[in-house]
Amino acid sequence: MRPDILNPLFAETETLDGVGPKLKKPLDRLGLTRVRDLDYHLPERFVTRRAVQNVDDAGEGEQIVVKLSVTEHRSGRSPRAPYRVLAQDGIGNVIALTYFGRASYNAKKQLPVGETRWVAGKLERFGDMLQIVHPDHVVEEDGETLQRLCEPVYRLSEGLTQPKIAGLVDQSLSRTPELPEWIDSSQVNKEDWPTWRDALVLAHKGENAPARDRLAYDELLANSLALMLVRADNRKRKGQPLQGNGTYRGKLALPFPLTGAQRRSIAEIEGDMAQEAPMLRLLQGDVGAGKTIVALEAMLIAVEAGAQAALLAPTEILARQHYESLRRMAEPTGARVALLTGRDKGKAREATLMGLLDGSIDLVVGTHAIFQDAVSYRNLAMVVIDEQHRFGVGQRLMLASKGRRAPHVLAMTATPIPRTLTLAQYGELDVSKLDELPPGRQAIDTVVMGQARIGALVDRLAAQIAEGRQAYWVCPMVREMDGPEEIAAAEARYAALKERFGDDVVMVHGQLGAELKDAAMERFARGDAKLLVATTVIEVGVDVPNATLMVIEQAERFGLAQLHQLRGRVGRGSEKSFCVLLHGETLSETAQKRLALMRESQDGFFLAEEDLRLRGGGELLGTRQSGDTPFAVASLEQITELLPKAYDDARLLMERDGGLEGKRGEAARVLLYLFERDFGVKTLRGG
Ligand code: ADP
Ligand code: MG
Repeated sequence: MRPDILNPLFAETETLDGVGPKLKKPLDRLGLTRVRDLDYHLPERFVTRRAVQNVDDAGEGEQIVVKLSVTEHRSGRSPRAPYRVLAQDGIGNVIALTYFGRASYNAKKQLPVGETRWVAGKLERFGDMLQIVHPDHVVEEDGETLQRLCEPVYRLSEGLTQPKIAGLVDQSLSRTPELPEWIDSSQVNKEDWPTWRDALVLAHKGENAPARDRLAYDELLANSLALMLVRADNRKRKGQPLQGNGTYRGKLALPFPLTGAQRRSIAEIEGDMAQEAPMLRLLQGDVGAGKTIVALEAMLIAVEAGAQAALLAPTEILARQHYESLRRMAEPTGARVALLTGRDKGKAREATLMGLLDGSIDLVVGTHAIFQDAVSYRNLAMVVIDEQHRFGVGQRLMLASKGRRAPHVLAMTATPIPRTLTLAQYGELDVSKLDELPPGRQAIDTVVMGQARIGALVDRLAAQIAEGRQAYWVCPMVREMDGPEEIAAAEARYAALKERFGDDVVMVHGQLGAELKDAAMERFARGDAKLLVATTVIEVGVDVPNATLMVIEQAERFGLAQLHQLRGRVGRGSEKSFCVLLHGETLSETAQKRLALMRESQDGFFLAEEDLRLRGGGELLGTRQSGDTPFAVASLEQITELLPKAYDDARLLMERDGGLEGKRGEAARVLLYLFERDFGVKTLRGG
């Protein structure tokens, strides 16, 4: 049971003043459903704005406050095109106030033609026009108040504004109680950290390293504790020793010999599965290293031993892709493969559920739907988790605890994770590495060029498309997940490319509904669409062998590991593939190094290590890297710095200080519930 003291924190956002069904939607989209989520919706950065007389006094990229008179409203030619309000400063400079999507409704109300308004936001250049995209504030009078020294900037979704979310955060914080201290007091004293509640308040107010560190440490401690609890539980429980006799595997008719690394990994997995202790193994292999076949072999071992196996994919579309390829490969073995996702309804779903229950289905591929309560298995003994980093640790480990006996778990990842992060995600676990690519892979030619040459690039793209090839075009990463600026960039690029390529272009980004996103992806996967404009949502796993060109805009903003992942989307077929990294006019020294490394190396492990080393320089401080870590609060730097301490702290608490009993134990329990890593608490109690 969740401790009562946490109740106000787990109240729904709808209990806050001013939140109704209309505001709830954009909040939900950001994952902000409860008071606690708003507390932890920490600012991405803080802005200090300068009031200027006119825009001549301001630099591009500067945060300004300026008085403008509205001259004209222009809606775009297509519904996707931006809505622009043209306005002039005191000396006649024209500035476009640019809005995407529904934000334009506000613009219409707030900026009547002929009126004067104070506008705050970031001044940018778009082509030969000066613009402010989605101004932070538009007010009638008193521009002075906009100049407040330091204002938090939060990640938004369509339908939210900075002041609105700041107001909700204030409300949430005022309902937030002080909680008992769960960190070892010597640690708190040494670092001079504020209490939990103070840390939250401070972290929303301004840049405050001790506060942010403390909050990160809390998360890392919660995670370490949860991992230990689950591991302890796992050790107590028995798995099912699975010994294959080779009958199914012998019938696989692979068109290629396995690589040495694949054979070695399979042997390691086979060894684990034969044990009674449940396997917990990570299979690391660069994009294209051939993890799928290793997974299939592992799953067939389970089938040979009379049990069932499941493969869990992070998205609907990946589940379908896996299902298709596994079914094809498994066909000659006679193993029966089924697909189960949240999309399946009615009779087909019933049939699959029956098959899983009576054992007529051997292998099931799906999204998290395969682990819902309604799904029962005759004998599920082996689970493969693909591209695990998109799942929360808790979710993954809870999975592992489902069923009478713990299933053997194989997690697969293409992100070459440095050791610290493996520890963070799994605690102690065994690792198999596919450190050898299948032979005959074509190297991907990587080209680095300035944004100015984009015209020539588009011509080349047209030539590729004319030859029947497909291409990806990835727009800059601004935020951890798609934020408005990122969407704006993708939308603008999409609009521009559409003028040239028409219906050959489709777009996906994180704020499109799942149906729209899947529809676009499917058109592209089928080859009906030739060009996919995307934010980083395409990063993981998509497999379209006919795609031979990857364009990444503002590549300098991405981490190496992520660029490598993106690049791995091409070079999957027999044709020569290219990756073009576009960069802005000025490049820092580190950025230059990074892009040069991309040109020189195609080794994901090498790049990941270099990435961490270069980032150690602090260039990306505060910019979280998408998908790299399972943490919401802790940044990569904080993980590297604080995780070992948190891990030791957790171990001492468990081994020396009586675990979750006693005063500090009680506090630790509160912490686990706060971070929803409480599943371990239950197993502990059960026994
Ligand atoms: P990933 O590790 O990225 O999941 P996949 O399992 O999708 O990689 O494999 C990528 C491609 O390589 C697939 O088309 C697969 O059939 C092929 N492949 C896998 N193993 C080998 C091998 N030993 N020799 C040749 N091709 C292989
Ligand atoms: Mg894969």
